[in-house]
Amino acid sequence: MDLFEYQARDVFEKHGVPVLGGIVATTAEEARAAAERLGGGTVVVKAQVKTGGRGKAGGVKLAHSPDEAAERAGEILGMDIKGHTVHRVMIAQGASIAEEYYFSVLLDRAERRYLAMASVEGGVEIEQLAVERPEALAKVAVDPLVGIDAVKAAEIVARAGFAEDVAGQVADVIQKLWAVYAAEDATLVEVNPLVRTEDGTVVALDGKVTLDANAAFRHVDHADLEDAESADPLEAKAKEHDLNYVKLDGSVGIIGNGAGLVMSTLDVVAYAGEAHGGVKPANFLDIGGGASAEVMAAGLDVILGDPQVEAVFVNVFGGITACDAVANGIVKALEILGDTATKPLVVRLDGNNVAEGRAILREADHPLVTLADTMDGGADKAAALAHAAATA
Ligand code: GDP
Ligand code: MN
Repeated sequence: MDLFEYQARDVFEKHGVPVLGGIVATTAEEARAAAERLGGGTVVVKAQVKTGGRGKAGGVKLAHSPDEAAERAGEILGMDIKGHTVHRVMIAQGASIAEEYYFSVLLDRAERRYLAMASVEGGVEIEQLAVERPEALAKVAVDPLVGIDAVKAAEIVARAGFAEDVAGQVADVIQKLWAVYAAEDATLVEVNPLVRTEDGTVVALDGKVTLDANAAFRHVDHADLEDAESADPLEAKAKEHDLNYVKLDGSVGIIGNGAGLVMSTLDVVAYAGEAHGGVKPANFLDIGGGASAEVMAAGLDVILGDPQVEAVFVNVFGGITACDAVANGIVKALEILGDTATKPLVVRLDGNNVAEGRAILREADHPLVTLADTMDGGADKAAALAHAAATA
């Protein structure tokens, strides 16, 4: 889960990272009040969207009075930045910037450790810097069992070439940012720019934090950080039912049991789709091991709620939950859904009690259901049905 900048700011503050005052506002009037609460002096009005490059897109503007803050907020609210509509701005205390630095720490999956990156040339051109002068961006491996302690922080600061007068401060901030990373179970903490102000203090002026959703169970407070209003409604519904659902862009709905089987079903459907107008999978949905009627109904309900779906491929390998139980689940799910189920379903069952499962579906003889003998055959049938529906 990615955080908004204002949320990252709050998390930084909690762990002692130096930040400036920041208040979130959703209207120009709230922005004026926020600027007043921050002392009535210079503030920065910053678009709160989960994408980078806000500065370049005109989403970060200075304002020298509360009136001006209201005016700038009025301009920025409603703006579109790389496909993200601005619903909120943060009114941040203005800083006089002497220098802009860069720091980040992230998960390096390939090397099975963390990677810290730092540069004394931060700011809005960091991507360009990384490409054109990679030597100006220090990359330092971080042992997960040690983290960024004083020794590692000193190494990062030295490798990046921070000047002596800020090196100590930067090393301290880096250790606190590591505390954010470790304590909050983040997979990314990025600060660009980390600045030295005119009066010589080092402050995090921007923050990008990604939290590891797999660790959500040990952070009850993280649920409050979720952006419910812009969450995909289908993904929200799936989450309510504890289903592992990811919306994709195609027209063939997919239900399977077990993440591996569902992943390979996506591949097989995408491949089969090439022969049927290029249709593609509409989603990932793993209903897990215990495919009860309720779970199957919830899964079908989510998938059929996606207006892009033209056909559904149910691909189940009976294991602990045998095929007859799954087949009963499908039959009952269609009963529960009644008239709301309108798209054709191709069902491929294999594994434990496959003959019984198929017999149940044949007996039920539901007009929407087609049985397939193989995974490839089922994928082809579902892709053909989706293509036919789209071109009908
Ligand atoms: P991003 O473009 O989305 O990364 O947004 P940032 O928060 O990094 O802001 C972009 C740029 O705006 C920064 O690199 C700074 O140069 C400038 N900026 C941000 N906050 C302030 C501030 O308080 N004072 C001044 N003078 N400039 C700021
Ligand atoms: Mn930035």
